[in-house]
Amino acid sequence: MRSWLRGLPPSGAKRASNGYSIHGVDGRSLDQSGAMIDLQGITKVYETDAGPFLALKGIDLQVMPGEFVSVVGKSGSGKSTLINMFTGIDHPTEGEAIVARTRIGQLDEGQMAVWRGRNMGIVFQFFQLLPTLTVIENVMLPMDLCQVYDPDERYERAHHLLDQVGIAADADKFPSAVAGGHQQRAAIARALANDPPIVVADEPTGNLDSKTADAIYQLFESLVAGGKTILMVTHDSELAERVPRTLTLADGEIVNEVVRAPASGQVLNPVAKHRVPDLPDAEE
Ligand code: ADP
Ligand code: MG
Repeated sequence: MRSWLRGLPPSGAKRASNGYSIHGVDGRSLDQSGAMIDLQGITKVYETDAGPFLALKGIDLQVMPGEFVSVVGKSGSGKSTLINMFTGIDHPTEGEAIVARTRIGQLDEGQMAVWRGRNMGIVFQFFQLLPTLTVIENVMLPMDLCQVYDPDERYERAHHLLDQVGIAADADKFPSAVAGGHQQRAAIARALANDPPIVVADEPTGNLDSKTADAIYQLFESLVAGGKTILMVTHDSELAERVPRTLTLADGEIVNEVVRAPASGQVLNPVAKHRVPDLPDAEE
């Protein structure tokens, strides 16, 4: 399965030189903790008819380059809200998200769109492919927005990405004509369009049968092996347990964190700070 990554263009190849650095907007790049995703005291309050609702309660989280992190938690625990805070989809009420060395709260809307397109691929539960574009046109769209790759190489790169995720035959079909698992593969190819360092997935297998979910999970593993940093929200506890590091969210707080040996899935060191009381003691 890992073989699908072979032959991907090298990271950072053929970047346009139009005033933006690869991992941040010039003049705003940071180089501090070394974390790829650095969340500092993130609080989110939603204003509702019933009054203010505290959806995130001061989240601190560092995800290092090349890490594969899963986030689990009941529906309504704040998982999607958390993703929205560092993808720039929404803004925290308090705290700061520094992602790929950029303080994303300082970007205006236009900068944010370009920054996100270059630094982050986002995969959603319901794929969110544009229905009026073919599969390959969907994959080319972020390339057109961000201008990382020259116009005359975008089609070829999109085709290559579709080939790598195993659905080159679907390139010219409309999304409605391909199966859910293939739509999600297309969405992953789209997420990789500009070769971003980070891939974020919100319940990427939530709408897929278990066999297809497993294939999608293996694609993510391949991406991590190829150097991507991945944060995946999932309802599937079996899938979450295969990921080297798992965070549990409850009522807007990280209440548990488990780090496993990659090969065996064995629990190495539940982090004391976030442990729930009834877990077995960690080996020191
Ligand atoms: P999860 O992804 O873990 O299911 P969410 O992050 O979507 O949870 O939601 C966390 C909580 O915040 C839920 O109680 C939800 O109802 C609430 N919430 C989410 N978005 C909004 C919003 N735009 N306005 C008000 N409340 C919201
Ligand atoms: Mg959600």
